[in-house]
Amino acid sequence: MLELEEALAGILAVVPPAVSEQIDLGDAHERVLAEAVFSPVDLPGFDNSAMDGYALRAGDVASAKPELPVRLRLAGRVAAGDAFNGEVSAGTCVRLFTGSPLPRGTDAVVMQEDTRVEPGNAQEILVLDSAKPGENVRFRGEDIKHGSRLAEAGEVLTIGRISLLAATGFSNVNAGRRPVVGLLATGSELREPGQPLGPGQIYESNRIGLAALIRRAGAIPKVWALIPDSLALTRHALAEAFDQCDAVVTSGGASVGEMDFIKEALQHESGSVQFWKVAIKPGRPFAFGRHGQKLFFGLPGNPVSALVTFLLLVRPALLRWQGATEVGLATYPGVLVERLANPGERRHFMRVRVDKAGKVYSAGGQASHVLSAMAAANGLVDVAPNTELAAGTSVPVLHWE
Ligand code: AMP
Ligand code: MG
Repeated sequence: MLELEEALAGILAVVPPAVSEQIDLGDAHERVLAEAVFSPVDLPGFDNSAMDGYALRAGDVASAKPELPVRLRLAGRVAAGDAFNGEVSAGTCVRLFTGSPLPRGTDAVVMQEDTRVEPGNAQEILVLDSAKPGENVRFRGEDIKHGSRLAEAGEVLTIGRISLLAATGFSNVNAGRRPVVGLLATGSELREPGQPLGPGQIYESNRIGLAALIRRAGAIPKVWALIPDSLALTRHALAEAFDQCDAVVTSGGASVGEMDFIKEALQHESGSVQFWKVAIKPGRPFAFGRHGQKLFFGLPGNPVSALVTFLLLVRPALLRWQGATEVGLATYPGVLVERLANPGERRHFMRVRVDKAGKVYSAGGQASHVLSAMAAANGLVDVAPNTELAAGTSVPVLHWE
């Protein structure tokens, strides 16, 4: 039985190198950048106004006060998107709006609220306040310098990053290709939700959550029909899935019972089992294998085990497949409101509920079939073997929602 870190390292070591493709920036959210990107421009591209107001020379209005305004002649008007030709001379100002380029000769902007225009004298602006050089000016390159690095290879394109790429003129980027992931569920007891149940039958509930998690990891799920516990039918579905997908995720049939065919089926289809069993709870019977360059993940059938092993062992592989550097779940600090105890010999990833203040509660029953606690949970706490964490303990909480 492998420790979690060994298992994960073993998986990541055989993930094939990412293949990149050029994509539209509009489709790039949450994709993994394939190469570093450098800015072809300064941002802002020119000195411009941060306010609606008047561009002027700060030296002209050094003495301006509400009761002693400085009078400047209005020399022109520059709307956002316009350019100002010529130079502004001493004693004059130019009407500007937010984003208007700063005219040559000026070095500050006084906001409109600090000015007054006398009725019938629109060509003269009364400035009621002094300004420092650079006041209300957004300088060329103050945000991003030409040639500076905007994003790194292996970074996930967040909303902020795609916005920055758009602002620096990119309309497409190179991103890691997304793997197509075959999703299979085995078990003769399983029925599709919406269908009537016979005696001993249950609704299949793993594929829907796993498909959502596969999508969240940037991959493309391809869902197979339910597979009864039969070696021949399992082999057939696996062969099809490896034919059509980059990786295959199965649930169920990975334990020790004589009806657990998944590892045998993989071997019969000329795949190999790289390891089986990881020292975690839930999810011990997790199996990892390969079929040529393609990856096989055999998740336990118990619903909580399937979701937790996906998050800890499959999600990182799917992200790395796309070239991602960071592949672990995000953790946030929390404080236990009640004790969490793990009397067992394996690390227990306990389902917890964290509130907005970072207070951490058990989400309910911690057995691997208890979906009510999974539904109540928004985090996992990794509790070491034979360990009791008292109320008040600070813990990192793994997040997936
Ligand atoms: P297995 O890993 O096949 O031994 O299944 C372990 C437990 O999980 C059994 O109680 C199964 O009925 C249940 N189970 C397996 N696959 C699923 C599934 N896809 N949806 C819901 N329950 C499942
Ligand atoms: Mg089964």
